[in-house]
Amino acid sequence: MDSSTMSQTLDSTTAATINAALEGTEAKRNAITARNVDVYYGEKQALNKINLDIPEREVTALIGPSGCGKSTFLRCLNRMNDVIESCRVEGEILFDGEDIYNTDLDPVLLRARVGMVFQKPNPFPKSIYENVAYGPKLHGIAENKAELDEIVEKSLRRASIWNEVKDRLDTPGTGLSGGQQQRLCIARAIAINPEVILMDEPCSALDPIATAKIEELIDELRERYTIAIVTHSMQQAARVSQKTAFFHLGELVEVGDTDQVFTNPVDGRTQGYITGRFG
Ligand code: ADP
Ligand code: MG
Repeated sequence: MDSSTMSQTLDSTTAATINAALEGTEAKRNAITARNVDVYYGEKQALNKINLDIPEREVTALIGPSGCGKSTFLRCLNRMNDVIESCRVEGEILFDGEDIYNTDLDPVLLRARVGMVFQKPNPFPKSIYENVAYGPKLHGIAENKAELDEIVEKSLRRASIWNEVKDRLDTPGTGLSGGQQQRLCIARAIAINPEVILMDEPCSALDPIATAKIEELIDELRERYTIAIVTHSMQQAARVSQKTAFFHLGELVEVGDTDQVFTNPVDGRTQGYITGRFG
């Protein structure tokens, strides 16, 4: 059979994989796929038919004006909206090929695999060590103290904060600077072996130097983790992400390679936003 017939018989993912192999580029698997996602708060619809793939081991930035549904969408990805009583999610969110809203998977376990870092650093009122050890203890990840020590050190190293805290592990996490607290929170997320890390404006409470450190860290983390980050800073989206999704009034207006979205947006609304005509 000729190649055009063959590609018709393959599903699009397989075809993309084969094409990428032929072109010598690596096809990215999607860690998460959102299909026709609608979200309501009571009667009010906050998201309308969102379709978005989040590729594995890349940074996907969610941008758009305040109130357009970025945080709402991010919270769908690990069922954080479950805790908001008026909130209803429809459509499918596939993680590892499984619909996270239609499965036996315990949301607590889901949130370990799809971790979250919030806008305001929120370390527990415990020591630095205990902040990182908490999750592994809860999930029974470490067999003994030595293993736990190792996980704590490794997580703090991966979050680029080990050198700053290694001599004060038993002091309160809340005593660190804002930027250090945020890296501690990232270490806490990493400690339970997530596959995906969701970040909702993780730098908006930080000064420019602390922000630069987190951005550098995000770039390192994508070697191992899939990252979805909400940011109101277009410069940040352009610096840290490979893929950008532009939301506007509850709709996903445009999604593409970050370079394309910022240099050659397809939709007039994206163009208007990135050139600062509204926001
Ligand atoms: P963004 O993160 O882009 O600023 P949000 O996802 O926070 O936007 O909000 C999207 C819409 O949903 C807004 O109209 C907001 O008022 C509404 N919304 C968000 N959270 C809640 C909530 N807990 N209860 C009711 N409405 C909410
Ligand atoms: Mg938000």
